[in-house]
Amino acid sequence: MSIEELYQLYLQHPVISTDTRKITPGSIFFALKGDKFDANTFAAQALEAGAAYAVIDNAQYRADERCLLVDDVLESLQNLARLHRKHLQIPVVGLTGSNGKTTTKELINAVLSQQFKTFATQGNLNNHIGVPLSILSITTEHEMAVIEMGANHQKEIEFLCTISQPSCGLITNVGRAHLEGFGGVEGVKKGKGELYDYLKAAGGVVFLNTDSTALREMQQARHLTNVFGYGTNPANNNLVTGRLISNSPFVKFAWHSKDGISHEVQTNLTGSYNLDNMLAAVCTGLFFNLTADQINQGISSYQPTNNRSQIEHTATNTIICDYYNANPSSMAVAIENVSLMQADYKVMILGDMFELGDESAAEHEQVIVKAMAAHANRRIFVGKEFYKHQVAGADFYETTKDAFDALKVSPIKNATVLIKGSRGMALEQLKELF
Ligand code: ATP
Ligand code: MG
Repeated sequence: MSIEELYQLYLQHPVISTDTRKITPGSIFFALKGDKFDANTFAAQALEAGAAYAVIDNAQYRADERCLLVDDVLESLQNLARLHRKHLQIPVVGLTGSNGKTTTKELINAVLSQQFKTFATQGNLNNHIGVPLSILSITTEHEMAVIEMGANHQKEIEFLCTISQPSCGLITNVGRAHLEGFGGVEGVKKGKGELYDYLKAAGGVVFLNTDSTALREMQQARHLTNVFGYGTNPANNNLVTGRLISNSPFVKFAWHSKDGISHEVQTNLTGSYNLDNMLAAVCTGLFFNLTADQINQGISSYQPTNNRSQIEHTATNTIICDYYNANPSSMAVAIENVSLMQADYKVMILGDMFELGDESAAEHEQVIVKAMAAHANRRIFVGKEFYKHQVAGADFYETTKDAFDALKVSPIKNATVLIKGSRGMALEQLKELF
């Protein structure tokens, strides 16, 4: 089946399913392959569960004429998304970066949705499957979309841009994340820079964090001119200049645009590092001509529920739920956040950071040094990497289960507790102890 034919069917059945346990009746099922499964084998099941069609790439599983045979299911999904995006005449804000993509995406969406009917990437669906699925969720009702793109190796952002085709966008920052796949920080700059390359070639607009030397260098190297800056330095000719007022424990900040009128916004996110994310959202809002009131309303109403920079009060403790993920850069800012926080008794529970390749040992050691130097009353390190570098004055556990068992025996009370580690550490399991 050709992609044009498939597109005609999609227009009549504009919902995509990829999981037979969650089939939307009337949807088109794409039989993707995973590490452990080949969804071709589920095609009949998907149709039974109510899918209108099943896209397969193995003729052996052609149950009936509702099975649409293509060369490669994943490629078809991506091509379909590309075609759909071409037909959508709406602005797409594309974003990538080492840290803060999801938070910034949510904030931008919170702002733009004050004025427009927006679509934004759901959760963290930011890869070669998630981006096409996101694009295919955009309908003619939507006036604008905010699409997160993640990468852990070169050429990935270039590829994802051919699908999302952003008309404007930003790189949140370049930091020490996915060093293994990118080949060090220079590799990260190159890989993330593919968004700038795309926007330049497409005549798109870049929102630039002018506080970042690395991002400014990347902009200059490409001679980008269609640029709107945001940051804290008034000398940088920004569209929006901001400053942190307080972070106790939630960020309050002030911003002004070129009219010089200052606005103050109280947010529900902890961590001064979120100032960048917020200024990116203000910049995007201003670019799309929202009023200051709309922008402020959008940002102040955003409540994180995704375990990033989120604070939860339990009966006995205050938990900084940041256990969605971790890498050396985000670990550093999260430790600093707790260090500066006013609280009687502060605990850091830090889990291993994955995907660091050769730099893993050194990066874990550095986190230990940072955590030991920070203002905190207790430090608990969890995971095999941290365990190899034990120091005096802290608790070390090899696994999340070991930490759980130990903390269950002697519970922590009346404390402010940061919990942060890589997704694979699943540190959320510890939360019930508090
Ligand atoms: P992922 O790669 O998992 O998609 P992401 O880039 O979408 O991550 P978020 O999920 O928004 O990032 O945030 C993850 C963590 O990164 C936060 O919990 C916080 O610790 C840290 N973080 C968020 N924003 C920034 C920032 N601007 N600079 C540095 N660290 C940040
Ligand atoms: Mg994300």
